[in-house]
Amino acid sequence: MHETMVAEGLLSAIIKETEKQNAKPVRAKMTCGTLNAVNDEVLKFAFEAIAKGTQCESVELEIEHKPIQGKCRKCEKCFDIEFSLPKCSACGSEDFELLPDQPMLLEEIEFETE
Ligand SMILES: [Zn+2]
Repeated sequence: MHETMVAEGLLSAIIKETEKQNAKPVRAKMTCGTLNAVNDEVLKFAFEAIAKGTQCESVELEIEHKPIQGKCRKCEKCFDIEFSLPKCSACGSEDFELLPDQPMLLEEIEFETE
């Protein structure tokens, strides 16, 4: 399952950082794109399940979905594509190229401060 693999990757990245910081992680934020989007609930559930018993047990996971972007061929502006209305937000042109999807990324980890 896709989400379980993502959760495992997240957990090992957080644990690595935790050992470096020697602190207790309380919150982690990740971002993902549109095409490789994860199901938030499934991912949180998978993460909780595998984090049980580790120092990441109480980490609250936050997932931000980034919209896919396009680059206008007329005015060269980059913009967020809305699938209901795919056109340039600056000049209204429908002639644009799709930019690569945002990667899945662990953006930040918040640690408990004493
Ligand atoms: Zn444009």
